[in-house]
Amino acid sequence: MSKINRQEILDILDEYDKEDITIATLGSHSSLHMFQGAKTEGFRTAAVCEKGREVPYQRFGVVDEIITVDKFSDIVNDEVQEQLKDLNSIVFPHGSFVAYAGLDNIETIFNVPMFGNRDILRWEAERDLERKLMTESGVRIPKKITDPAKIEGTVMVKFPGARGGRGYFVASSTEEYDEKIEAMKKRGWIEEEDIKEAHIEEYVLGCNYCIHYFFSGLKQDAEVLGMDSRYESTIDGLVRVPAKDQLDLNADPSYVVTGNHPVVIRESLLPQVFDIGDKITEGAKKLVPPGFNGPFCMQTLVTDNLEVVVFEMSARSDGGTNTFMNGSQYSYLYHGEPLSMGRRMALEIKNGIKEDRLDEIIT
Ligand code: AMP
Repeated sequence: MSKINRQEILDILDEYDKEDITIATLGSHSSLHMFQGAKTEGFRTAAVCEKGREVPYQRFGVVDEIITVDKFSDIVNDEVQEQLKDLNSIVFPHGSFVAYAGLDNIETIFNVPMFGNRDILRWEAERDLERKLMTESGVRIPKKITDPAKIEGTVMVKFPGARGGRGYFVASSTEEYDEKIEAMKKRGWIEEEDIKEAHIEEYVLGCNYCIHYFFSGLKQDAEVLGMDSRYESTIDGLVRVPAKDQLDLNADPSYVVTGNHPVVIRESLLPQVFDIGDKITEGAKKLVPPGFNGPFCMQTLVTDNLEVVVFEMSARSDGGTNTFMNGSQYSYLYHGEPLSMGRRMALEIKNGIKEDRLDEIIT
């Protein structure tokens, strides 16, 4: 199926009454502050909700319209898309929206105007594209090990589809790598054909900072709006067990995100934080024009040499933005009042309408 022509989206946007825009997204992931922020900036809001998941949106009073669907993936169905367009909706993408709507559908059949860059979502989802973007942008990432026989030092091994979940493991030698692969096969976590998909990279020992940027297409500036660190099961539980007992648990650590802590970084590291944001946004402009547009997140580990190493990125609103629904230390510095990522997104849409430049930031 062919990709949606950008002109088709702009034509739909052209028909919208700009005085009567709705901000819409799937009721999930990081939608609460998107709805709250949109309402604060004077927009109507609509949540596409799976049956039974409406409660938080109703109880927090952040949505005006609820479009109930049997399953989240129905957001791409023709009648739901029509309902959204009838409401003059601009969709704010987030992790669950991308997962449930599906990348292929977003690129080929979902023609409701969205805030962001449709094309960049795939660069987050495919590890090789993600590495290309980061490498060509000049961002420090973990070194890749192409051959398990050449493992020197500690490595992290990742499998596709296991992102953030089970099935990551740490190994310090080729023998340990082979043993762990065998153990995973026995558990049925991986199949023989998955082994060639194993991605092996340098294990970066450090503390986790996930940096939430907002790239304003209107101002051509990468703002640092907030930071979180992940609370991951079982790895963060294991550190509470004395080292001698950890071995008795016989548990391989997993990295399932269960929540997020708000965090601030040492002030002396902020130049690196801005440098990463500037480099990746410049790189993205060249590789996936027009580049980032709106929220994105660089997930980093900071070593004891005070080097910020990026191990992953989100090319849309990341779940960790929920740590600053009422603003963060950083968003306060820009705006002098509580500003969530969702409200910053709504503000960009509002400015786009005011300056008659909405077509530059809609995809
Ligand atoms: P991800 O699915 O890439 O977000 O990774 C899940 C978790 O694995 C991260 O939050 C980190 O705790 C850890 N992790 C990922 N890559 C590395 C790495 N290269 N070195 C050390 N830890 C890592």
